[in-house]
Amino acid sequence: MSLTASDIYAYYQPAECARRVYLRYRGEPEAEPGPYEQILLRLGERHERAHLASLGEVEDMSSLDFDKAVRKTKDLIRKGAPVIYQPAFRVETILGSARASIGGVPDFIIRKGNSYLIRDCKISRRINEVDHPEIAHQLILYGWLYEQTTGGKIAGLEVVCGTGEIVAIPYDGGVGVLDTLFRINRIQQQSEEPYNPVGWSRCQPCGFFQRCWGKAEDSQDLTLVPEVDKGLVSILHRSGIRTIRQLAELDGAYLSEINRPWGGREQRVGRKAEIIIKQALALAKNRELIIGKLDLPPARNFAIFDIEGLPPQLDEMDKVYLWGLQVYGERPGDYLSAVSRFGQDGDRQGWFEFLRNCLKLFTAYGDLPLVHWSAYERGRVKAYIERHGDPEGIGERVIHNLLDLLKVAKKAIILPDYSYSLKRIERQAGYRRTLPEGSGEWAMAKYIEATEMENPHERQEIMNEILKYNREDLEATWAVLQWLRAKVP
Ligand code: SF4
Repeated sequence: MSLTASDIYAYYQPAECARRVYLRYRGEPEAEPGPYEQILLRLGERHERAHLASLGEVEDMSSLDFDKAVRKTKDLIRKGAPVIYQPAFRVETILGSARASIGGVPDFIIRKGNSYLIRDCKISRRINEVDHPEIAHQLILYGWLYEQTTGGKIAGLEVVCGTGEIVAIPYDGGVGVLDTLFRINRIQQQSEEPYNPVGWSRCQPCGFFQRCWGKAEDSQDLTLVPEVDKGLVSILHRSGIRTIRQLAELDGAYLSEINRPWGGREQRVGRKAEIIIKQALALAKNRELIIGKLDLPPARNFAIFDIEGLPPQLDEMDKVYLWGLQVYGERPGDYLSAVSRFGQDGDRQGWFEFLRNCLKLFTAYGDLPLVHWSAYERGRVKAYIERHGDPEGIGERVIHNLLDLLKVAKKAIILPDYSYSLKRIERQAGYRRTLPEGSGEWAMAKYIEATEMENPHERQEIMNEILKYNREDLEATWAVLQWLRAKVP
C-alpha cells in the first residue's frame, strides 16, 4: 500500500468524492484542466515562487527524484539546514492491519530552535475546514511524517494563504489524517467503482466530469433531475429507486416525507417533492410541462442585465469586473458596459459607472424591469451597495426593478433538461453563440490574463472578447425570454 499527500487532495478537491479516488488510482483518463484551473495553477506556482524568494538562502530539493530527496532531506535536517524547499518524507508503517508506505512533499520546512516549522503556500484565501479540508489534512500529514522521520516534535504547521497572511494549523498528532488515508486506501482497493451522484455544477471542474455525466445519462440516473440534491439521491438509491423513470412513478406523499441530509442536519423533502416528480416526468417523456403563468410585468422594454465576477479565492473580495446592460423590446438601446479598471480604485469606479448607466436607462425608459438569470446579480448589487455606497439611491432602484427570469421560468414551465443553466436553456430557445468556448470560467481566466498584461492594446483586445461574451449572455437571456413567452400563455 502506497499513499501520499496528493491522495488527500484527490479525495477532497474539487469536491469530496470517493469515485474520483477510485478512478485516479486505476489511471482512468482525465480531461486536461480548463483555462480557469490552469490560471489557478499558474497563480499558485507564482505565489510559491514569491515566498521562496523571500526566504533568502534555501536548500532546494525540487529537481531531485523522490528517493534521493528523501535521503537528502534527512541529511539536511540532521545538519540543521535553515530552510529546505520541497523536502521529501517517506514512512513505512502499519495502516489498519497492512503495511503501508506513506509519503509527502511539503513546500518548505524552516528551522525553529531545535525543530522545524512546516509551511505550505496556497492561493486560497479561505483556509478552513469547510472550503479546503485538504489543506489542514495535508499539513498534518507532513507534520506526522516529519515526526516519524526525525523522532522529534514539529515546531508548528503554517500556510501562506493568498492574502500573504500566515495561518497556523493546529496539529493533532496525525490520528485523523491516518484515518482519512485508511479510508482512501479502502476506496482504492474496492472491486467495484463506488457510486457518487454526479452534479452539473459540483462536478464540472472535475477531470472525470464527461465520463461520470455520460454514465449517468446512459443509465438515466435520477441524479440528473435538477432539483434532486446529493443527499436525496443517496437515500433513493438505497431504497432501490435509481432511474428518472422510477422517480417519475413515485408517490409524491412518500417522497415529501423523506428526510435527507441538508447542511449538517436533516430536512424533509416537503413541497419540493411535487416539482421533483414533475421534472422526472418531463425528462422521462421528453416534453415540457406547463405548470403556471409566465409572471412577467406588462413592459414594452426590458433591460437585460448580466455581470461577470471573480470569486473571493482570487481577489480581496468577490469582485465584479463587468456590469453589462442592454435594452430590448419596442425601443432597443445600445449595449452599456461598466468595466472595473485595473488598479486600486477599479472596483469602486466600476460600480459607480454601472450606477450611472442605470440612471441613463431610468431617465430614458422609466422604471423598466432589469432581467437577469439566477440570483447572482441581486446578491452582487446588494453587496456593492454595502461595499461602496449608493448616495443617490440608484442601486436601491435597481434592486426594486430586478427580475430573475430563471425564477419566473421555474414557476411556469418544467423543461426536459438536466440543468437550468442559461447555456443549456438558450440552446432550446434556438440561440447560437459566436464564442462557443465562452463560459463564466473562460471569462474569468481571460480577465486575469488581461490584468497581467503590460501592453494596453493586447489588454484591450482581451477585454473586447470578454465584452462580446457578456453581450452574448444578454442576447441569450433575451432570446430565452421571448421563447418562454411563446411557449407559456
Ligand atoms: S465527475 Fe463528480 S462523480 Fe465523477 S469523479 Fe468527478 S466529482 Fe466524482
